[in-house]
Order: sequence, then C-alpha cells, then structure tokens
Amino acid sequence: MNYSYISHLYCPKCSKTYSSKETQHLCTCGSPLLVEYRLDELAHDWKKDHLANRSPDLWRYHELLPLEDEQYKTTLGEGMSPLLSMNKIGQDMGIHDLLMKDEGTIPTGSFKARGAAVGVSKAKELGVEEMAMPTNGNAGAAWSLYAARASMKSTIVMPIDAPKITRNECAISGASLYLVDGLISDAGQIVGNAVKEKGMYNVSTLKEPYRIEGKKTMGLEIAEQLNWEVPDVILYPTGGGVGLIGIHKALKELQQLGWISDDKMPRLVAVQSEGCAPIVKAWEKGETEAPFWENSETVAFGINVPKALGDFLVLEALYETDGCAIAISDDALLEEQKKVAQKEGAFVCPEGAAAFSAARRLRDQGWIHEEEKVVVLNTGAGIKYPDTVNVDLPILNPGDRIR
Ligand SMILES: *Cc1c(COP(=O)(O)O)cnc(C)c1O
Ligand SMILES: [Zn+2]
Repeated sequence: MNYSYISHLYCPKCSKTYSSKETQHLCTCGSPLLVEYRLDELAHDWKKDHLANRSPDLWRYHELLPLEDEQYKTTLGEGMSPLLSMNKIGQDMGIHDLLMKDEGTIPTGSFKARGAAVGVSKAKELGVEEMAMPTNGNAGAAWSLYAARASMKSTIVMPIDAPKITRNECAISGASLYLVDGLISDAGQIVGNAVKEKGMYNVSTLKEPYRIEGKKTMGLEIAEQLNWEVPDVILYPTGGGVGLIGIHKALKELQQLGWISDDKMPRLVAVQSEGCAPIVKAWEKGETEAPFWENSETVAFGINVPKALGDFLVLEALYETDGCAIAISDDALLEEQKKVAQKEGAFVCPEGAAAFSAARRLRDQGWIHEEEKVVVLNTGAGIKYPDTVNVDLPILNPGDRIR
C-alpha cells in the first residue's frame, strides 16, 4: 500500500491535467486545480477497519491526502474535532437533531490549521522554502505557524482590521508580517507582485491545490463520526468557500470508495454575512459565478471575502446537492453567539454563530425540517475575537456587597 493514492491534478473548468510531482498553481485558464486520486485501486486496498488503530487526527486518512512521503508530514495534532449534539439550542430552533462540528478546539484556534497542515507538508515535500499569502487573519496564523514547524519561511499580508490575535500568532511565528490599509483583495494584489518579484511560493486561497485537501477532512470526519452515514444538512460559513468545496469533494470520494451510500448527499448551505454576500447573490439568481462585492464589511472576519476564486465550485456544490445560500446580519449572528454560549456553554466564533443563525432562519422558513439531522460547522474559537463581545460590568470596592 502507498501512503498516498494521489494520481494527478486536474482543472475542473477545462479538464486539463497537471503533474503533482512539481509545484503548481492555477490552470492556464485561470481556474484552481483539484487533486485526483486512484480511487478504484484505493477502493480495493483500503478498508474502514484500517482506521481503527490510527491516531485521532486528519492524517488517519493519509491515503486520501496528497502527501506521498510521510517524512514531510507537518502536524500539530490537527483534526478529529468533536461532533457535539446541541440539544438545547436545537430545541430552541425546533430542530431535533442538531450537531456542531467544533473546529474551535484545533491548533491555532480555527479550522484553517487543516489546510495549513496538508498544504505546508506538501510544499515541504515539493522542496518549497519560502511561501507568501494574503489573509483575513486565521489562515495567516495557521500557515505561518505550520511553516515554522516545517522550518520554512513565510510572508503574510493582512488587513489592518483583521483580529489582533491573528497578527500576534503570525508575528510570534517569525513570519515577515505586513498590514495593509485595505481588504484581503488588496493584500492579494500585494502578495501577487511579491511572488513574481521574489519567487516565493504563492499559497493564497486555492492558488495552491492542497489546502482544499486538508479542509476536506472535515467531510471525512463527519461521515466517520456518524458511522458512515451522512446528515441531511451541513451549514458552513463561507468566505473563499474552500471548506464547502472540500466537504463536497470528500463526500463524493467516499461515495466512489463505496464507504457511504450513493443515494444520499447532504444539502450543503453556504452561510454569508449581509455585509459580504456574493455567493448568496449569485445563488439567488441561479448564476454559476459570483460578482465582486463592493465595500464589504462584517464582524465575521473569516467570511469577508468579496470575490472568491472558487465561487463556481461553491455554487456547483450548492446546485448539485439541492443546497442553498443565505446571508445573516451582524446583529443576528452576535445575538446567536450569545444564545449558543448561554444554552450550550460553547463560545463559538462569529462565523460559526452565523451558521447557527442560518439554521434557525432556514428552520423558520421550513427549508429545514424538524426531524432532520443538521450539522453546523463552528469554524473557530470565540476566544480569538475578544472584541466582538461587549460587556458593561459593575465595579465593586473591596468590602462591597453583591446585591
Ligand atoms: C476562513 C474562515 C472561514 C471561511 O472559510 P472558507 O473555507 O474560506 O470559506 C470561516 N470561518 C473562519 C473562522 C475562518 O477563519
Ligand atoms: Zn483549466
């Protein structure tokens, strides 16, 4: 058995193929590239029982990941996050079987660690020494820390408004960190030029093909944690949409392996913020690509992405699974964040709170039924965003009494 059953890279737009033995970025047609595996061979060689004694992290699925030589594996123990039942908030919404996949427990505090672990490992295997990326915060934090773990250099550019803690995570990793007085799209332009001039490896969202493979492990885990049965609905806070594309890819691969049933795919929901909802706008019109969203703004920083390179793949996943896209206001998501903390004791990130709020709205609209099994992705830890919670507290003097 091989460590990985990777075959090659292919373009989902024009079908051109590329070798996975050297560094690759976009297809000549401008589309992101996806990884193809030797699934027939893998279906023959790989059985569910093989997982039984493997460590509870995302590398338990290494056959379905792109890293070929285990010596380049760069890990901080990421993956196999809890899938928790959320009965009280579920009851409050009228959903009997509501579950949260909690990515707040993952190293670096967000699910970005999954993409970074696999992306950095593969880059190391391909001989990369220095990488560069634009980020809204969490991705930069994860990639710079994993790069440090792999003894690689990184250059990170993020908006001045990105959460401060993610700045500190990048800085302490030893990354070259720059702030831009603008949006992630502005940071992207700066990185694009730096990459051309300095020959760094560009790890912008979907500009390298392996981040998505790391994120797809959320889909593999959800299936395994539900004993190889998929839920009815999965809600995902969508920025670049990598996680959603990844979960869809994972479930299709599991179907091809015969590990889950062919005739049930969860309805995938892309949750965005009302202040930045290009995918929702496109989905409402039935379009296959999303427009650039001008002047985007939201407290859910991870989903502030005005134009996603993989928008057509996100929309395809929504159409193929009879899913939908929905936008949530900042007020609604902040209120939901409080509710989830008070009813369940879970301090979810604003992006995750948006997904809970979306579940509530879709239940109210009848799009989600009472008896359905619904999985909400909480993509990060609430403690990474101390400024989204405002409290006004009574101050006592020593000796005062509590009334
Ligand atoms: C990046 C991020 C998202 C959005 O992820 P995509 O895969 O780019 O859509 C959601 N939540 C958090 C906390 C993030 O950091
Ligand atoms: Zn192409």
